[in-house]
Amino acid sequence: GSEAPGKLEGIESWATWVGLNLLYERYLVKRKGFVVETPNEALERVASFVAEAELSLGGSLDAARQEFYEIMSSGRFMPNSPTIMNSGTKYHQLAACFVIPLEDDMDSIFSALNTAAWVFKTGAGAGFDFTPLRGRGSPLSFGGTASGPVSFMKLFDEVADVIKEGGRRRAAMMGVLHDVHVDLEDFINSKLSGGLENFNISVGVHDAFMMAAASDSEWNLYDPNECPQLVGLLSGDLPDLWRRCSPRRTVRASSLLEEAARAAWETGDPGLVFLDTINQHNPTPRLGRIRATNPCGETPLLSWEACNLGSLNLGRYVKDEGIDWELLEHDIRIAVRFLDDVIETSWYPRPEIEAAVKRTRKIGLGVMGWADMLAKLKIPYDSDSALYLADKLMEFIAYVARDESNRLSRERGPYPEFPGSIHKDGRFNFEPQVSSSQIYDESKVSDAVHSIVNSRPKLDWDRVRSEMMEGTRNATMTTIAPTGSISIIADASSSIEPFYSLIYIRQSSLFSWVELNRFLRDWLQESNNLNAEKIKDVIRHGGSVRGLSWVPSDVQAVLGTALDIDWRWHVRMQAVFQRWVDNAVSKTVNMRRDATVDDVKGVFIEAWRLKCKGITVFRDQSKGVQVMSVNQNI
Ligand code: UDP
Repeated sequence: GSEAPGKLEGIESWATWVGLNLLYERYLVKRKGFVVETPNEALERVASFVAEAELSLGGSLDAARQEFYEIMSSGRFMPNSPTIMNSGTKYHQLAACFVIPLEDDMDSIFSALNTAAWVFKTGAGAGFDFTPLRGRGSPLSFGGTASGPVSFMKLFDEVADVIKEGGRRRAAMMGVLHDVHVDLEDFINSKLSGGLENFNISVGVHDAFMMAAASDSEWNLYDPNECPQLVGLLSGDLPDLWRRCSPRRTVRASSLLEEAARAAWETGDPGLVFLDTINQHNPTPRLGRIRATNPCGETPLLSWEACNLGSLNLGRYVKDEGIDWELLEHDIRIAVRFLDDVIETSWYPRPEIEAAVKRTRKIGLGVMGWADMLAKLKIPYDSDSALYLADKLMEFIAYVARDESNRLSRERGPYPEFPGSIHKDGRFNFEPQVSSSQIYDESKVSDAVHSIVNSRPKLDWDRVRSEMMEGTRNATMTTIAPTGSISIIADASSSIEPFYSLIYIRQSSLFSWVELNRFLRDWLQESNNLNAEKIKDVIRHGGSVRGLSWVPSDVQAVLGTALDIDWRWHVRMQAVFQRWVDNAVSKTVNMRRDATVDDVKGVFIEAWRLKCKGITVFRDQSKGVQVMSVNQNI
């Protein structure tokens, strides 16, 4: 406990009680119900276990172990939860994200359920493309009619319910259905009446669909039983489908988009997954097309692939009103090595998964604590300065990460699919890119932010490109995950999200607690305002300071919350990070309760236009249970 004499070290010296509590409840190894390690020992366990990969890869186990421990125990880097929970245990499955394929037959469906059960058991989540399943009412070979993809999703949901009982984590799933499937409306509305609690759902949309919606054209829906070729299509293949298959129904694309926006307005689901954009950036097209993502959308994967993630805590790199680029570069290199080692040391629930993972060696290095960094630097989230800094910062991370993967390739060899990849041809994952001028106006960037960016080390992309063409270790380097749990452990704001609220109650399945934003607290203290009256005023104001007359305008600007920030800035922030991210960006566009269905449609269209890979909205209080909610009655 905190009364213990002696100096606290490592994570124990800076962790909050909430973070430590979470570690004790879910992450530390238990025997017979008792926790048998300290938080520092847990990080030592992770570092030692992952570093074992160095033995077979010709590196130095001791050096790696120390470096891995140092970046975690200092709170600058955290791997995804399964790596912290499962390293060194019997089922040492270390990845967070899986995509499991389904075909239109019982064997395939039940075998996918079986695989998914193992994935859930180890604290990870899985995504599925349900498009191959024949539509509701379609004939079956033994007579009778099919019940359709949505009914099978209910089955998956039941299994997830059973497995999560007694587990340490929610069994999270992503269900995707492509925009050409005949059961599309059933799918879009499948969460309206409750149920499917373990699913996030997303409509897989084509560019052609978005254009048809914009021009108010007709859109054809097909049954895969009659047209098997509709699985895994891209926009370019649609004319052929239209010629060769007869649709079951024809609807206006704009009313489908409207229906999706209405359901999302009401429940947060469905989101959209932009299939053409995702596949334009598929690094290994020879291995097939990407049809689904993991549960929170940040990792589009080929069938059977898995991806392990880790996140840098950006708040920790602020130094002297600028960014400590050297330390950041140092940590990116160690984190990349760590994540590549995780691939070697992880246990895999199926041989198909192990084969797919080791063929492409995808990793997902991302960030958390972005709102912390901005607040420390006194930059409002909803500003061109913030977008510009995000652009230059993520470019730096992408650059160093790819450079390190090239270096690892010289040491350990390229990923096996490299000869058939875009990298061999000298193309980076993030090319082609949407131009930055479509997202922000550089002429509005502050001098202070220009000078932070000017202190960034020089990037030589041509060198990195030509070295990459000789061999690179990983098919993807970067992913921006939600960091729901690891940001609590690391005491960071989550992912690239703005602060949700300056005062709120956080609820987990285990307990709930009240938090006062640290930047607000510091300012209240400095300005002699830290008293019950002022705090109550912020609470009455919905956990925000924007519009409170006693708060100066610069403080109001810097402490903007998710609901203060207009949806256009949310989408721009996602898009600007996506410019440099190999996988995808998990982001929730939080909207105020009074947002309209048209606003939601606006978010969908803008995200597509700015080349996001997917999009999720959440309107305040639109669901019964919220992970985070502003409580007026504290
Ligand atoms: N995930 C899961 N169950 C959960 C939370 C997350 O399976 O309860 C998976 C899911 O694939 C998600 C990914 O982990 O997309 C990353 O989520 P997050 O960054 O929030 O995980 P953390 O590492 O912070 O626990």
